[in-house]
Amino acid sequence: MRPEGPYRPRARRGTLCRVRVIVVGAGVVGLSAAVRLAEHRYDVAVLARDLPAETTSAVAAALWYPYRASPRDAVTRWSAATFTELTRLAEQSPACGVSSRWGTELVRGQVTTPWWRDAVPRLDRLRDVPAGYDGGWRLPVPVADMSVYLPWLVARLEALGGTLTRAWLPALPTPGRDLTVVNATGLASRALTGDPTLSPVRGQVVLVEQVGVEEWLLEHSDEAALTYVVPRQEVVVVGGTAVEGDYDPRPDPATGAAVLARATRLVPALAGARVVGHRVGLRPARPTVRLEAEQVGEGTVVHCYGHGGAGVTLSWGCADDVLAAVQHAGAAAPATR
Ligand SMILES: Cc1cc2nc3c(=O)[nH]c(=O)nc-3n(C[C@H](O)[C@H](O)[C@H](O)COP(=O)(O)OP(=O)(O)OC[C@H]3O[C@@H](n4cnc5c(N)ncnc54)[C@H](O)[C@@H]3O)c2cc1C
Repeated sequence: MRPEGPYRPRARRGTLCRVRVIVVGAGVVGLSAAVRLAEHRYDVAVLARDLPAETTSAVAAALWYPYRASPRDAVTRWSAATFTELTRLAEQSPACGVSSRWGTELVRGQVTTPWWRDAVPRLDRLRDVPAGYDGGWRLPVPVADMSVYLPWLVARLEALGGTLTRAWLPALPTPGRDLTVVNATGLASRALTGDPTLSPVRGQVVLVEQVGVEEWLLEHSDEAALTYVVPRQEVVVVGGTAVEGDYDPRPDPATGAAVLARATRLVPALAGARVVGHRVGLRPARPTVRLEAEQVGEGTVVHCYGHGGAGVTLSWGCADDVLAAVQHAGAAAPATR
């Protein structure tokens, strides 16, 4: 009988080998899944056109917050799992670039309990509401500095025996009985899988020098004029924009100035802060995140894309489900002879 789990007998040599998984994509979704799989002793190779620092994930403000991702029940579950894991990493691995920070969400109009309430251990009602707002929430959440966190994920993967290789793939690799493929290509899945429901939501952020901002702030009552301020050790990420269907990767100086002006009205400490960079990223938006196994010939492709504005927020919860799908694919595959 074939053993369960990632170990399967290699027919000809008669020795045990680790089941191979190719993860396509080195953004936060692919790397988190790769680490989780390697922790469970899969033989993991990540292949990616863009290395981590060049991905959309590197542009993320990387505040834990379930923004522009569906369906709500799964997103709440994935977000909760990620909250727990990122909080654990912040406590146990200080070098990983994740920390827990208090912050405020401001709300205009009716102040209703957020649909993702069950994902967080603590959510306090805002007491001192600034003029122009009707209420808000205060809560501590994990925040990642992606310039530290993505390299840390790569180092963790490599320490577990996994690899990362730059490779542009014109199509997803063909899976087989001893090779499972994980598709974590973000927006590129539109072309790679022929999925017309996936589309970009362009976001632009301004990076300014740290000027003593310790808490994050978010306001998205008006989707067209979303505003957030997310502090890191060295810089503050100031956003943002959310333009549907826009593929332009170039930062627009006028947009950057407007973003900074809006944020400075809410966080006056930003006034006069030196701008150190402008960044644009294309959020991979989809009516719902696609996380499912597809049988291809004798093997399985596990798709994991379409995380919209919440790839960081969903990363570990999705990684757990990718692991379960890969384990299920292995258990269902015919025995190697
Ligand atoms: C301005 C902005 C702010 C954001 N803020 C937050 C936030 O605060 N919190 C949060 O949770 N989320 C945030 N997001 C959203 C988050 O960045 C995305 O959801 C996330 O990056 C998606 O990750 P991904 O790994 O799926 O895709 P990507 O990061 O885009 O990675 C895709 C990978 O697939 C590879 N790939 C694609 N095609 C191929 C191919 N043919 N062959 C080989 N490799 C291929 C790419 O090279 C890349 O390595 C923000 C996004 C933007 C733009």
